[in-house]
Amino acid sequence: MSERRVRVRFAPSPTGPLHMGGVRTALYNYLFAKKHGGDFILRIEDTDQTRFVSGAEAYIIEALKWCGIEPNEGVGFGDGPHAPYRQSERKPMYRQYAEQLLKDGHAYYAFDSSEELDEARKRMEKSGAIFMYNAITRQNMKNSLSLSADEVQKRIDAGESYVIRIKIPRNEEVRLEDIIRGWVVVQSAQMDDKVLFKSDGMPTYHLANVVDDYKMQITHVIRGEEWLPSAPLHVLLYRYLGWENRIPQFAHLPLLLRPDGNGKLSKRDGDRLGFPVFPLNWIDPVTKEQSSGYREKGYFPEAFINMLALLGWHASGNKELFSLEELVQEFSLERISKSGAKFDPEKTKWFNQQYLRVRSDEELAKEFQSSEPRIQKEDFKYVKKVCTLIKEKANFLNEFWSLGSYFFVEPTEYDKEVIKKRWNEKSKAFMAELATTYKSASDFSAANSENMFKQTCEKLGIKSGELMQLFRVCISGVTGGPALFEAAALVGKGEVVKRLEKACNTLTLPSP
Ligand code: GLU
Repeated sequence: MSERRVRVRFAPSPTGPLHMGGVRTALYNYLFAKKHGGDFILRIEDTDQTRFVSGAEAYIIEALKWCGIEPNEGVGFGDGPHAPYRQSERKPMYRQYAEQLLKDGHAYYAFDSSEELDEARKRMEKSGAIFMYNAITRQNMKNSLSLSADEVQKRIDAGESYVIRIKIPRNEEVRLEDIIRGWVVVQSAQMDDKVLFKSDGMPTYHLANVVDDYKMQITHVIRGEEWLPSAPLHVLLYRYLGWENRIPQFAHLPLLLRPDGNGKLSKRDGDRLGFPVFPLNWIDPVTKEQSSGYREKGYFPEAFINMLALLGWHASGNKELFSLEELVQEFSLERISKSGAKFDPEKTKWFNQQYLRVRSDEELAKEFQSSEPRIQKEDFKYVKKVCTLIKEKANFLNEFWSLGSYFFVEPTEYDKEVIKKRWNEKSKAFMAELATTYKSASDFSAANSENMFKQTCEKLGIKSGELMQLFRVCISGVTGGPALFEAAALVGKGEVVKRLEKACNTLTLPSP
């Protein structure tokens, strides 16, 4: 095994937008491939035409691009030696393997109609059991094991529709070693004769998946836990197709759980739990229902990826912040846990905040200015200074305007609570006096404006603590924000004076 070049694949079905659990699967595949200098492939598994959703494939590609985890081979990322990478385009390739299995006695034709299958199911349910198409029941169904060879040929010649099923042995132990879960042992009596090839001429997921993993020389299958029950079947397929020495190593990833630990985080959760479950916005092409994405909510892809990496995997130490390159260095399948990983929306915001803080003021200012039409004409140096002051208070870049609009436009509203509590004859007189003092100041640095503020307090015999908040509200409209005198200095002398005068002229005093 060790001499084979590592090749892994992300193999989503285009049945809807990519859920963040899917992004995590793609991420772990990406990290593993990069760590081992191997290949990461995107294969689109679209054999089930009935579940095809238009736009889903483009969405998957865009999401991987946004996350910065681009495959180096596959749909949307350039053809490698194994093209095509869309299973519907590989259709002619699969039939020969179904036929090989038929010839070798590992598969058989089945002619049962859906009504007949339903009846069999109901009969079984009446006796309190669950129907499985298997070594016992297949004898009473219509297939090439129960019918004579002549009869089978006649049906095929007459164009009757059929499927091809795998012939699971009656009593055999199927074993596989999963990197995360260790040995998995399943009795074949618990497995059913899954359909491998459908009446529409398409292979099912199982056959196509195994054939493609083999043909694309996949060395490691890293996928969600929901596929673990299919793994023994895949092992048998490798064996029956004569590819046993090329079975990939399996790693089945733990589920992503809802924040309360109560069940799996599913696509259907949409925005219902108060946070997005998709990387990008998605509009359902049929229902037009909209679901939000992390990108549009204002998350940085690096923060999103960092957060996802730690959902089910941990680094060797306690470190939590990793660049993609650092994740590649640190990643190992052995440190993925078996148990489900609880998603924590608050922690996700924290990650974004950390990434916001390490961005340079220069970068933030560029992004702020290009995303906010109201400040596009502002002086860049000034925008940068605003960013320096407000970034500590923000989790997202898209909060910058609401946190710092007063650096660009004077407030039109004032915090009602503070005004009600603090605006009176005395405080009004103070603000008027402060405006006059400031007007004649030659130095309006943060330190000096604070000194002048304090001197004015002393002069009028008022405690400065009572007035600081009101002063902030007079110049910004709001109660919270960066260091008050830093903010005042940046707003500038002329503007601060103007705003103080405006407050004195417009705010009404409480009736006596
Ligand atoms: N098409 C499967 C899916 O949608 C792929 C499972 C696998 O990776 O084998 O998740």
